[in-house]
Amino acid sequence: MRILLVEDEPTLREQLRSGLAEAGYVVVPADNGRDAHFLGETEAFDAVVLDLGLPLMDGLTVLKRWRDQGHSMPVLILTARDNWHDKVSGIDAGADDYLTKPFHMEELLARVRALIRRAHGVASAVLRHGEVALDTRSGRVTAMGQTVQLTSHEYKVLDYLMHRPEAVVSRSELIAHIYAQDFDRDSNTIEVFVGRLRKKLPTLNIETVRGLGYRLVQLKDLGR
Ligand code: CA
Repeated sequence: MRILLVEDEPTLREQLRSGLAEAGYVVVPADNGRDAHFLGETEAFDAVVLDLGLPLMDGLTVLKRWRDQGHSMPVLILTARDNWHDKVSGIDAGADDYLTKPFHMEELLARVRALIRRAHGVASAVLRHGEVALDTRSGRVTAMGQTVQLTSHEYKVLDYLMHRPEAVVSRSELIAHIYAQDFDRDSNTIEVFVGRLRKKLPTLNIETVRGLGYRLVQLKDLGR
């Protein structure tokens, strides 16, 4: 999952960046509103963490412009103090949730997880697909109750697909949402990760859609 992190205060930005990265997100940081706006309109993000007080363009303007342009990614705004005006204007401008500074990293992570789930119509923190369960809070994957050890890249591929059952996901989309750096990107490795997932989770039905990508197919009740 790919997160746009917009915060101009360097210490806080670094804390948030490392906290989100440790939680397994690919983080793209921005330190001003103009860059943030450009990134949000030109690249795909699963969620945005947006400070409101920003140089060059304030967070509310950034958010309003995105929404006017039809960009609907979930946005969590950070408000400087317990100012209800900021929250109301932020939500009116199209924010999905807010957090008042100071806050705990754990709360930010929980809210980001919930925003991403809601954007895909998933209510529970545990994603299920047949016998396979993925707990988005702990990053634990189980098959029939047994823990399955996945590498961080395998987990990221699975997490991305499980948030989008039945959708065809292209390799380039997976690459963009899984790798932090361009130089890591190699579309052949995606095939390797999918191959390993199929081996480790044999009941999971990851279909290859020729020329398009992959699709996690919901299992019918065959053989039950
Ligand atoms: Ca600020």
